Amino acid sequence: MASFQPPDVLLLGPGPSPVSRRVLNAMARPTIGHLDPRFVGMMDELKELLRFAMQTRNALTVPISAPGSAGMEAAFVNLVEPGDTVVVCQNGVFGGRMRENVVRIGATPVMVNDAFGTPVDLEKVDAALKAHPGTKALAFVHAETSTGVESDAQALCRLARDHGALSIVDAVTSLGGIPLRTDAWGADAVYSGSQKCLSAPPGLSPLSFSEKAVVALKARKTPVQSWFLDLSLVMGYWQGSGARAYHHTAPINMLYALHEALLILQEEGLDAAFARHRENHLRLKAGLESIGLELLVAEKSRLPQLNAVKVPDGVDEAAIRKRLLSEFGIEIGAGLGELAGKIWRIGLMGAGSNPQSVDRVVEALAVCLARKAA
Ligand SMILES: *Cc1c(COP(=O)(O)O)cnc(C)c1O
Repeated sequence: MASFQPPDVLLLGPGPSPVSRRVLNAMARPTIGHLDPRFVGMMDELKELLRFAMQTRNALTVPISAPGSAGMEAAFVNLVEPGDTVVVCQNGVFGGRMRENVVRIGATPVMVNDAFGTPVDLEKVDAALKAHPGTKALAFVHAETSTGVESDAQALCRLARDHGALSIVDAVTSLGGIPLRTDAWGADAVYSGSQKCLSAPPGLSPLSFSEKAVVALKARKTPVQSWFLDLSLVMGYWQGSGARAYHHTAPINMLYALHEALLILQEEGLDAAFARHRENHLRLKAGLESIGLELLVAEKSRLPQLNAVKVPDGVDEAAIRKRLLSEFGIEIGAGLGELAGKIWRIGLMGAGSNPQSVDRVVEALAVCLARKAA
């Protein structure tokens, strides 16, 4: 065997997104001790950078040492106890994963289902919260990566607050791609991932808890079911002015990468990053239309960073994806769940959101479908 040499692939799927040389170089810096005071200084900067990106002043804002699904699990296991009721919105694959978390805790999920490809229906959520007084939390996905849909996070957080429930917000694909105003919206638990619009490698999950969420965590009657994700323990490592207590060995070099990726976002500015995602989405839409392809989602709830494209009748979607990868070096995603076989998912996330990526994927699709631009 020899060292693994990965091929050069343009990552335009649902994540991971392209990782810049600058971020890869940050990862290649020397590994130091995870309790070294200089490393702790870097951790403090990292928390501040996350607060900037998530638009919050929440003290409890940290990267969980695992991918986005662990951020999801951390939000649920820390806030939900056996016997609680949680209203879970499902309009794609990830809402189903939330439900699974609630069930495994021994709590009761109340499902609000909407068709894949449409946003969460606020009236149905309001009705579910009214029908279940004392609901502990309302959980929803801000940017559904499985369908390319944005739901109204601000309105959903308000509904939760109006009904005395905590809001649990999946911002895995929204962070860095579209506005995510944690404090202004009053979101209580927000989690994300490193490999979508932040364009760091996968393996970290930024997480932020409001003061209300911290109060709920402290008021628990039962211990958090997961030792690894118990934030009251994790905090001993990530917080405090003096010595930090060992909980688990932090993924040191991955944290360098996230720090660098967040610096890049800060240098660009949030509004500029959102505008760039939007512009390249519009360029993609125009390019797709020129070769006769259509987007699945209605315009007002389309995500710029995840474009669900309808597969034309009679086209073998998997064969085209394979050819894009093998001949053109471009990865795009397949449909999931009920959209399997019906859509392609083209991600323009983070460093992948640029005009060159858009033109490359449109040209390659045109060749594969043997279509000329109109
Ligand atoms: C990718 C994704 C996740 C899961 O993140 P992993 O890093 O794959 O564990 C959860 N929710 C949404 C909306 C996602 O796009």
